[in-house]
Amino acid sequence: MNSIRSQFPILSQSIGKFPLVYLDNAATTQKPLSVIEALNEYYLAQNSNIHRGAHHLANKATELYENSRNTIAQFIGAKPHEVNFTKGTTESINILMYCFGKKFLKKGDAIVLTEMEHHANLVPWLYLKEEIGIEIRYLYMNSNCELEIDPLEKIIDEKVKLVSLAYVSNAMGTIHPIETIINQAKRHQALVHLDLAQAIAHFPIHVEKLNIDFCSFSAHKVFGPTGLGIFWGKEKWLLQMNPFLYGGEMIKEVFLDHATYNELPYKFEAGTPNIGDVIAFEKSIRFIDSIGWNRISEIEMELYHYLYTKLEKIAPVKILSPKNKSIGALSFIVENIHPFDIGQMLDAKGIAIRTGHHCCQPMMRKLEIEGTCRASISIYNTKEEIDFFANTLEKTISRLQ
Ligand code: PMP
Repeated sequence: MNSIRSQFPILSQSIGKFPLVYLDNAATTQKPLSVIEALNEYYLAQNSNIHRGAHHLANKATELYENSRNTIAQFIGAKPHEVNFTKGTTESINILMYCFGKKFLKKGDAIVLTEMEHHANLVPWLYLKEEIGIEIRYLYMNSNCELEIDPLEKIIDEKVKLVSLAYVSNAMGTIHPIETIINQAKRHQALVHLDLAQAIAHFPIHVEKLNIDFCSFSAHKVFGPTGLGIFWGKEKWLLQMNPFLYGGEMIKEVFLDHATYNELPYKFEAGTPNIGDVIAFEKSIRFIDSIGWNRISEIEMELYHYLYTKLEKIAPVKILSPKNKSIGALSFIVENIHPFDIGQMLDAKGIAIRTGHHCCQPMMRKLEIEGTCRASISIYNTKEEIDFFANTLEKTISRLQ
C-alpha cells in the first residue's frame, strides 16, 4: 500500500493542522508522479504541434500522442481509430447527441435513460427532445437507490433507438445491471452508450465484450489529467456521423465551395488537441497496469466495505448507497443536518468529501432531499483515514445535533 501511496505526493500534505484525508475520488482522482512527470517532460523537452510537422519535435510529439491512443484503445478493447480525444465525458456525450442523435434520431423515436444519470447524460438529451421531438423514456430508481428493471421489457421496445446510461452512479456508487439492459436493447436493435465516467476507475472495460456501440469517460477520474476525455464509437457509426467541430486537422481537402473530411479518428479532433495531457494520460493507464485490476479490485472492495461498515455503526447516519451493490462512492444523509454543514466541519479537520446534488437533481428530487454527503475512495486511501473520517463524522454530528 505504501508503494502505491508514495506515488501520490499531494496526499502527504496537511490542511491546517491535519493531514489531508482525500475522500473525493468520485469527483476527481489524484495523479501519480509518473503522470505529472510526463506532463512536465512534454513541456520541458517535447512540446510541438502534432501531425503536421516535419521536424524532430513534431515527430516525437506525434508518436507519443498516437502511442497514447493505442494504449487507451487496448485498455478498453477497442481499435485505435475508434478512440477520439475530447475534453471529457460531458463533451463526449455532446458529440453523441449532436453528431449521432441529431442526424439519426427522428421525431417520435425514443431513447432510454435512467433517473439516476449525471446531468451530463441527461441535459443534452433534453435539448434534443426540445429540438427534434424525440421521446425520452426512463428506468426509475427504487427506494434502495437501485434501478428498477422489472419494467425493462415494456420500456425498451422497437421504438427505442438508443439506450444511454452510466455503468456506475456517481451520486450513489450503485453498479447497474448493465448486461440485462444491454441484452434487452440489443433484442430490439437499439444502440447502447455507456457513461463510464465512474466505472472506468473500478473495473476493466472491454467495449466489444460488453456489446456496446459507444462509450464516454474522463481521464481525470482515472488518475489522468483534467480537461481530457474519450469518446469511443464503433467505426460503422463514426464513419456515418457528422464531425463535431469544423476547422483544421479534421479535413482531407478544402476548396472554396466545399470540404471533405479526414479519416477516423482525426475527423473528430479539429484544431490543436490537448497534446501534453494526452501524452501524460498514457502513464495513468500504465500505472493501473502496474498494479493490475485484481489487486485494484481487492483494495477497493476492502476499503469500501470497511467504510460502509464504519458508517453503518453511526446511528444518525442514513446510508443511501445500496449495500453490496455499490463501489467507490458512498452517499449518506443525517436527518436535520445540512450536508454542507457536515462537509465544512470535516474540512476543518482536513477531510475532503463532497456535498450537494452531485449533478443528479432528478434523483435528489425523488429522494426528497437537497443533497447528500458523498465519501468516495480510491486505491491510495487507508483504513486509518477511514477511521479518522468516521470518528470525526460522529463527533461532528453530535456537535451539530
Ligand atoms: N458522468 C458521470 C457518471 C460523472 O461522474 C461525471 C463527473 N462527475 C460526468 C459524467 C461528467 O464528467 P466531466 O465533468 O469530466 O465531463
